[in-house]
Amino acid sequence: MSKVFNFSAGPAMMPAEVLEKAQNELRNWEELQTSVMEVSHRGKNFMALAKRSIEQVRELLAIPDNYQVLFAQGGARGQFAAIPMNLLTPKGKALYLNSGYWSNAAADEAKRYGTIEVQDILVEKKGQSAVDLPDLSAVASQYDYVHYCPNETISGVEIFDVPDVGDGVLVADMSSTILSRPIDVSRFGLIYAGAQKNVGPAGITLIIVRDDLIGRAQPITPSIWNYQVLRDSDSMFNTPPTFAWYLCSLVFEWLLQHGGLDAMAQRNQTKAQALYNFIDQSAVFHNTVARENRSRMNVTFTTGDAERDMQFVAQATAAGLQALKGHRIVGGMRASIYNAMPLDGINALIDFMQAFEQQR
Ligand SMILES: *Cc1c(COP(=O)(O)O)cnc(C)c1O
Repeated sequence: MSKVFNFSAGPAMMPAEVLEKAQNELRNWEELQTSVMEVSHRGKNFMALAKRSIEQVRELLAIPDNYQVLFAQGGARGQFAAIPMNLLTPKGKALYLNSGYWSNAAADEAKRYGTIEVQDILVEKKGQSAVDLPDLSAVASQYDYVHYCPNETISGVEIFDVPDVGDGVLVADMSSTILSRPIDVSRFGLIYAGAQKNVGPAGITLIIVRDDLIGRAQPITPSIWNYQVLRDSDSMFNTPPTFAWYLCSLVFEWLLQHGGLDAMAQRNQTKAQALYNFIDQSAVFHNTVARENRSRMNVTFTTGDAERDMQFVAQATAAGLQALKGHRIVGGMRASIYNAMPLDGINALIDFMQAFEQQR
């Protein structure tokens, strides 16, 4: 089998070492002569795994003591509903910053549960997409919370500054940027992420929530998404997706073994920079995101010609560079280069793009 690189946006590639470890212990986990997916989530071994995984996340993100780490099901879209149900007060309202598809989808879902205001923060600067981050320090406390999406996975727009909400509550959909670089958790009221981009496989959602935001859920909130219920049940109110949780814990372990998030941030910056540098000098490919908002996780590019883009994707796929087709709503190409993507994958892509350029 020749070398293949998977640039899928999500579910995305997992670290090879994690898959190998899971494979090695699949039939005999922790000497139980059974797999991890066949044991009770309330048994000693799984409970220990769950506890360990939370400690690992706490260590990776330096999470302060007044935050809970919860795991839920229903993905990020489940949280689009759970967040207003848990955080909106009866007469309250929330502000959603709109920077693209996902932040907009989050606002649309939240509107079912209360009063939502939307503020567009995506602007065009010299023909490029950029984010104009407002200073909300004076106004944010009028809202139960302010929601934003630090990395728009589809367009490849990332927001590196954290919005200033003063005494307000900041909520972030970090599905495609969590664990890619260190963050100051204390700036946030709640952080959530579907696992399938940068944490593990699909089917599990990571939530980091400040203690004072727990316990004010609307009565309609499904128990499985009520943060108080999740906290009080150690995220085991219903049967958790144990195999997905296990794989996440292996990813956390892998991250810690490889220098944690400082090392990841450096690696990710090197990877993204190499790709953007190539695109910027290319006569064929271009990227339309302002430099300061170029995603380090999802690099979008196009030839500007839909036909040619299709040829590129087809030839790249044949050459072992998989899943480079852009999202259907934006077209073009997208290379998703999460933590698990090695620099070799970036170099292989650049080499291939270079060869493609010379074809005409
Ligand atoms: C993928 C993604 C989602 C959707 O996640 P699901 O787990 O499929 O609901 C939401 N937000 C962002 C930023 C994403 O990248």
